[in-house]
Amino acid sequence: MNLEFTREELEFQQSIRDWMGAHVTEDIRRCSALGEMPAKEQQQKWEQLLGKQGWLALTWPKQYGGPGWTATQRYIFDLERAMVGAPPTSPFGVAMVGPVLYTFGSQEQKDRWLPGIVSGELLWCQGYSEPNAGSDLASLKTRAERKDDHYLVNGQKVWTTQAHWADMMFCLVRTDPAVKQQQGISFLLIDMKTPGIEVRPIYSIDGHHHLNEVYFTDVRVPLNNLVGQEGMGWTIAKYLLTHERTTIAGVADSRHEIARLKRAVAESPCSYDKSQAWQRIAELEIELMALEYTNFRTVAATDEGQPFGPESSGLKIKGTEFQQKVSQAMVELGGMMSLTWDNQKTVGSDIFNRATRRYNFLRACTIYGGSNEIQKNVLAKMLLGL
Ligand SMILES: Cc1cc2nc3c(=O)[nH]c(=O)nc-3n(C[C@H](O)[C@H](O)[C@H](O)COP(=O)(O)OP(=O)(O)OC[C@H]3O[C@@H](n4cnc5c(N)ncnc54)[C@H](O)[C@@H]3O)c2cc1C
Repeated sequence: MNLEFTREELEFQQSIRDWMGAHVTEDIRRCSALGEMPAKEQQQKWEQLLGKQGWLALTWPKQYGGPGWTATQRYIFDLERAMVGAPPTSPFGVAMVGPVLYTFGSQEQKDRWLPGIVSGELLWCQGYSEPNAGSDLASLKTRAERKDDHYLVNGQKVWTTQAHWADMMFCLVRTDPAVKQQQGISFLLIDMKTPGIEVRPIYSIDGHHHLNEVYFTDVRVPLNNLVGQEGMGWTIAKYLLTHERTTIAGVADSRHEIARLKRAVAESPCSYDKSQAWQRIAELEIELMALEYTNFRTVAATDEGQPFGPESSGLKIKGTEFQQKVSQAMVELGGMMSLTWDNQKTVGSDIFNRATRRYNFLRACTIYGGSNEIQKNVLAKMLLGL
């Protein structure tokens, strides 16, 4: 495996860097610069800008609006995106439901939904988890009963990120309670404006509203919003897990975090001996480099057409543990400066002043997207045959 970019890839990197420099405005980068998540308007503005350029649905085949880049080019793009301080794109449309639709959807579904995803106009959320169905997703209970020309949906989803922003939800529902758990699940697309849907906020430990509970009471969903056939929901959910995940380790954003940490230490007015801080940052950078090389191997394998395997679980575990480690270093090196909460400026860098919120939120990154314990089970099963 070659760990150096080719001349063409370096030229590509420069062209992306130039574009980012010219198009990523201060309001787009402000949140990432402060370590916060963007508001809906900023997120959509950024995604629509990428959509216009044809750079939003990076992994999609060209015929559906993808740019036709290699995995290495997508990786370079992600690095440049993060280093300029632009936020990652929301995964629900481009990385999740889009690939499901062009793989399993009818022609009518493709024509109806894909253009809005590729342009960044249509926002989606993921309705999988329920109060008693998280890691054990197959035990989900939200019921979709087939009536004449529609499904009648009743039940509850929880932890639904961005449900309060979303136009549409892709949802796992139980269409047949009589068969084996996995076989009775279907994949349904639900318009969030349909009567009978109630979205209630969950405020997370960083004090922000990203998450929701979603209740369904006699919600009528047209039959042609079913993707694939009834009972195919589990197959589709598993397909998503094997869909390309070369950015799952979050290397690009971790690099940006370390750059922010360096800036905060450099700007710190404290008179403590900074050499220990620099040593800690150097250790983090070495660890990130190791993660990055492992990630490169996956990117190179993807370019060689190899399918995605257990490495995505390893990258998820190490990547999220590393994000937590950097946020912990940020809080500890900021000391008293990290204790501010309501964005009131005290002393020192704005970066340190907001570090605790981010630290708190990142406790969740080893849980969402399939908890790290579950990823370890996957590794044990696939690699050790346990
Ligand atoms: C910030 C955030 C955003 C989220 N966004 C979404 C979203 O948009 N849409 C959505 O559908 N869901 C979302 N989720 C839900 C997420 O997918 C679940 O929280 C996750 O799958 C874990 O399920 P659970 O919370 O029910 O915990 P449980 O499954 O009850 O797990 C509790 C603990 O037990 C461990 N555990 C469970 N089973 C095993 C096992 N077999 N072996 C070893 N350990 C085990 C888990 O790792 C965990 O530590 C989000 C969660 C968070 C925190």
